[in-house]
Amino acid sequence: MVLKGDKIADKVPKFPDQVQLSMIIKSIPVETITAQQIIDTCLRMNSLGINQGTSGNVSVRVRDSIGEAIAITPSGLDYEDLTPDKICKIYFGKDKEPVFAENNRYLPSSEWRFHYDILLNRPDVNAIVHTHSIHATALACMGIPIPSFHYMVARTGGSSIKVADYATFGTQELSNNALKALGNSLACLLKNHGMIACGKDLRHALKVAQELETLAQIYLKILSVNKIYGEPQLLSEEEMQIVIEKFKTYGVQPNIGNG
Ligand SMILES: [Zn+2]
Repeated sequence: MVLKGDKIADKVPKFPDQVQLSMIIKSIPVETITAQQIIDTCLRMNSLGINQGTSGNVSVRVRDSIGEAIAITPSGLDYEDLTPDKICKIYFGKDKEPVFAENNRYLPSSEWRFHYDILLNRPDVNAIVHTHSIHATALACMGIPIPSFHYMVARTGGSSIKVADYATFGTQELSNNALKALGNSLACLLKNHGMIACGKDLRHALKVAQELETLAQIYLKILSVNKIYGEPQLLSEEEMQIVIEKFKTYGVQPNIGNG
């Protein structure tokens, strides 16, 4: 049921100007177990050292009896203060427009647009991690994409990691730029901003983020010595495609049965 106008005006958080009250729907809270997984992912980002302050945000695809939605971290709260009831939900509307859950106690992350658009447009992606990790962000600020200097670049689902053009944080333009840079891969850098990592679930997205940060750290070291030792020899597109295919089944154990 979609609620309109004054009836809920004093019950919901103040949404950005472009979000109309007709876009807010009475909803079912995010399942506690899913919400806790989002919180655990945020805390893990901190323990891995790939997050700065409250700049990172995390989302996952969810479904309930109303429909499909994204569950996403709220805006600006310390991860230590997160509890499952503070995780926000945004439904995929009838015409793909965002429909905000009425029972959201907080505003969703200011970057909800690219989380929403990626999950809407990429059925192979179910979870997204966004951070301003030091080394990935350093490359992003320099506008330097990560080429196929190491086979682990293929862990991000592509043969290189692109940089999305700059746009103000939280805007539709940034979301459009991020989608373009992602293409069919699972990761990209955001110019003068940070990185996005995607996965089939939260664990996978976090692994991609961690891998991207490691690759960025190694690549920055290469850039610091390439004036002396020359450019690294890049792996060919053909070799990268072989590794990308290998990673599709990497870590999948053969079914040994129960008997
Ligand atoms: Zn950011």
